[in-house]
Parts: sequence; structure tokens; C-alpha cells
Amino acid sequence: MTTTRRLTGFKPTGHLHLGNLLGALRPLLAAQAHTDSIAMIADLHALTMDHDPARVRALTLEQATVLLAAGVDPDRTPIIVQSQVPEHTELHYLLECVAGFGEAARMIQFREKSAGGGHVRLSLLTYPVLMAADILLHDIDQVPVGEDQNQHLELARTLATRFNTRYGKTFTVPEGVRPEAAARVMDLAEPSAKMGKSGSTGRIALLDPPEVVHRTIARAVTDELAVVRRDPDRQPGVTNLIDILAACSGRAPGDGHSYGKLKREVTDAVEALLTPIRARHAELSADPGHVREILAAGVAAVRPRAIAAVRRTRTALGLLN
Ligand code: AMP
Repeated sequence: MTTTRRLTGFKPTGHLHLGNLLGALRPLLAAQAHTDSIAMIADLHALTMDHDPARVRALTLEQATVLLAAGVDPDRTPIIVQSQVPEHTELHYLLECVAGFGEAARMIQFREKSAGGGHVRLSLLTYPVLMAADILLHDIDQVPVGEDQNQHLELARTLATRFNTRYGKTFTVPEGVRPEAAARVMDLAEPSAKMGKSGSTGRIALLDPPEVVHRTIARAVTDELAVVRRDPDRQPGVTNLIDILAACSGRAPGDGHSYGKLKREVTDAVEALLTPIRARHAELSADPGHVREILAAGVAAVRPRAIAAVRRTRTALGLLN
């Protein structure tokens, strides 16, 4: 039996947060033993919107270090920086030759992010094709996806199928999977929105010091109902706290809890997860050369397959190899 191949990506546009940990990183850790997973820092995707070069570079190294600190085992799961595997961009162009302009322009994220007008980077339009290249390059058969990425995964499937039909079997057609034990974490200050990398004060970054974590949870928006129960419609803030508690500790809140007590329980549960990550991160960041070596080893591990995939694609398209 062949092992399932999975790809999980993180975009270096901000610090990794509790949503990334519970929604993507923990499922990746859980799958390490029974899948061939790749963890990718998608630095090229971070260039599709206005960006600060020094910040992207710093965040790329920081995210790689946090992935290691959280328990990604680089001997099992290569950690790669997208731009360091040049086949991503080569396959991106080749796939642009089977993708339609209309297909890219229809993407909801493109429409939302370009709606403000102003200078819209062409790469914002074409980035779903790069994402398809990320997946098809590594013969990925399962992509853990949240709802907001469904459309992009569908495009990858469409392009793979179209290419295979037109030019001969070249790509594995990937499937989207809802990862085991993934939680969707909402913003603590604005519980109707997903916790994200930018904007709100309701985000817990994985490297936030304990006092910041404590304060962010203490200030979490709740409601006037004063009952601790799951009710996503009427009590989104309290529901989010209950879900975070369950995801972090596997526990439900005790009976008759006040919101204050619930928040203290959530703080303890989050701290129990973050304390070892912070400590390991501090050790690892004392030796950035070591992290760089791990990234280089990741590139070396994935490149032979990537080079072979690009070669197959070039041949199928009629390019001289
Ligand atoms: P990003 O770096 O923002 O592209 O996100 C990396 C991964 O984290 C993706 O798999 C997202 O689905 C996941 N993720 C991001 N924010 C959240 C959240 N608030 N709750 C759960 N998962 C999330």
C-alpha cells in the first residue's frame, strides 16, 4: 500500500496563531506518523498583496522555527520554503497554459481582495494556479482544506484532470480532506470572524508572552446571557471559548461556571499548549543556522520528485527536454 501524501501550507504574512495551531498544525502533527506530509511556508503567496520584504523574510524563518518548536519532525515531514524549490514557479507557468483567465477571475478571494481597487497585483489573480502547482508538483493526493480554500482546491483538480485528458496522464488528482481533530478558531474580540493573521486584537499568537495571552482571553467578547453553553448563533463568543477549551484540553467547562471562571480555564488550557512551544522556540532561535540547515534538507528531500514532475509536464506539453 502506498502512503498518502499531504501538503499543508502557511503564508508568512503574520505570526502563526492559535487558529493555525488548532486548525492546521495539530492535524499535521497527528498525520505525521501515517502520511507522507510536506509542510510548506508559502512565501511566494505572501507577495500577492502589498508586502514588506524584510518582514516576509523574518516571518518565513520564524514560521519554520515555530513549526519545528510545535513538533513537526523534519525527518518525517520535510519543511520547505516554497521559493527555494524553483520548480513551483516553473510548473506555475506551465499550468497557466491550461488555465483560463475566466477561471482565475472567478475566484472569490481574488474578487474580495481586489474589490478595493487601487493597484492589484497580477499575481493575486494567478496565485490559485501557483497553488495548483504547489499541490501537483509533489504528487499530493490529499490536501487538508478549510472551507475558504475549497474553490482553490477545485481549480487544482480541474487543471490536473484537464491536463491529464489533453496531454496524457501526468498528475495525481488531489482530494480535499477535512483533517482529523481540526478546530475552527474564531477571533476573541470579534467572534463572528475567523481568527486571522492581521487586524483584530482578538488573536493569540503562538509566541505571545503569557501576560498577553492572559489579557487577550480576559478581554474576549462574551454576552449578557451569563450562561456557559454552546450556542453559536446567540453566544458566538462563549461558544468559541468552549470550543477552544475542548480543542486544547479535551475538557468541557465545569458545571455552573461563570464567564470569568471559563476564561481562566481557557487561559490555563492555552498556556499548557503554548508553554512548551515557546520554550522550544527560544532554544531553536538561538541557532538560526540549524533551522536553515533543516530547510535546506527539506528542499533536498522534495526536489527529485519535483524535478521529475516538471520534466513530465514539459515533455507532455511538447517542450524539448
Ligand atoms: P494561512 O497561513 O493563513 O494561509 O493559514 C494556514 C492554515 O491555518 C490553513 O490551513 C488555514 O485553514 C488554517 N487556519 C488559519 N486560520 C484559522 C482559524 N482561525 N481556525 C482554524 N484554522 C485556521
